[in-house]
Amino acid sequence: MNKSEPFDLVILGGGCAGLSLAYRLAQHDDAPRTLIIDPRIEYTNDRTWCGWPVTAHPFQGDVRARWHTLTLHTDQASTTVESRRYPYEMLEAERFYTRTLTAIDDHPCIARVQARALNVEDREEGVTVTLDNGETVQARFGVDTRPHPKPLAPPWLWQDFAGINVQADNMPRHAELMDFRIGENPQDGIDFLYVLPYSPDQALFEWTRFGRPPTSPTTLEQRLEAHLNERFGQGHWQALRRETGTLPMAPPTRTDGRSMAVTGAYGGAMRAATGYAFHAIQRWADQCAKALLAGQPPVGASTGRILLQLDRIFMSTLAQHPERAPEFYRLLFEKAPTDRLIRFLSGVPSVRDTLSVMNALPWAPLIGSTLRCALPERA
Ligand SMILES: Cc1cc2nc3c(=O)[nH]c(=O)nc-3n(C[C@H](O)[C@H](O)[C@H](O)COP(=O)(O)OP(=O)(O)OC[C@H]3O[C@@H](n4cnc5c(N)ncnc54)[C@H](O)[C@@H]3O)c2cc1C
Repeated sequence: MNKSEPFDLVILGGGCAGLSLAYRLAQHDDAPRTLIIDPRIEYTNDRTWCGWPVTAHPFQGDVRARWHTLTLHTDQASTTVESRRYPYEMLEAERFYTRTLTAIDDHPCIARVQARALNVEDREEGVTVTLDNGETVQARFGVDTRPHPKPLAPPWLWQDFAGINVQADNMPRHAELMDFRIGENPQDGIDFLYVLPYSPDQALFEWTRFGRPPTSPTTLEQRLEAHLNERFGQGHWQALRRETGTLPMAPPTRTDGRSMAVTGAYGGAMRAATGYAFHAIQRWADQCAKALLAGQPPVGASTGRILLQLDRIFMSTLAQHPERAPEFYRLLFEKAPTDRLIRFLSGVPSVRDTLSVMNALPWAPLIGSTLRCALPERA
């Protein structure tokens, strides 16, 4: 493909969001002329995406495992919930990358370049992107999925995690969404363990922390290893694969420009109060591809103002009362109707879903946070 001619679309970042969009376009012979810019040299099995498939997505055939029941543990009690309609699902990045890259690389109108976008000029008539290899690319429209880290203002928190796919005997039989029994000092951060057994002797274990400032994933990895030694015995478990991550539990830092739509985990596709992004990215990719195939400008991702405000109140409550976080989460799952809660956490609740979830929360601390959230945000 001739890269010196202007493209119809340039996608900055070929990760989950960029490839999800390009994969949809690649299903059409008349796809817009598209260039994906990403500095990655290789695509590895670098992450595992989990969540609830409240809406269908094209990667359902690649799902590695599904769980209909999920348990939450606190020092006080345990709660198990079941959903036949929305099983929690796990998809490994490797399968997603293989499927999307195969389709994209087979399409005559979609190309990839291994480079970093340095500068973007976003004008009414189109975008111009300068790459770190010295080239300049022009396109009618752009989609920006690049991460844009910045310090988080209260009440928002960082979500840090370290995960290990473990092989061992005596694996738990049920998925544990949040096990808070591992946390020590809640003022340092809200810690919990996440366990997804996907075969009789294998499971993904993840040590997660919500806190500010971010905690080094190495620290969490060491804690997870100490936990695994205690649980299975030193030398009695094997690490098959490792992953770490740091995600901003915060609203997006940027909004759509003139010809550039913003999306991805840092661009409004991630639910601030949970860190879930994969399924929201799939919904965004459907909408954005539909617009582009109809000859319209790309659309950006958005959580919606009401959900963002509810997230802010919830995060403010967590920040004020970290010691109450475990029971907050457990009671939410115990009291709210499960499918309604799943739709709420997935960012697609009906009004009744939202009211049911709000009704399940303890109101006294939330009222204080609601009043605090009415005040302007502090840096
Ligand atoms: C280890 C891990 C596990 C996760 N697990 C889950 C989960 O279970 N469920 C869930 O819903 N979410 C999960 N997430 C959160 C979220 O779904 C992922 O981060 C997802 O990959 C976000 O997609 P994205 O396209 O925004 O970012 P990415 O997939 O990270 O893609 C961004 C791309 O931008 C590229 N880039 C960076 N700088 C530039 C530049 N200057 N120019 C061009 N390209 C650039 C990067 O190389 C990268 O390929 C997880 C995240 C991580 C890190």
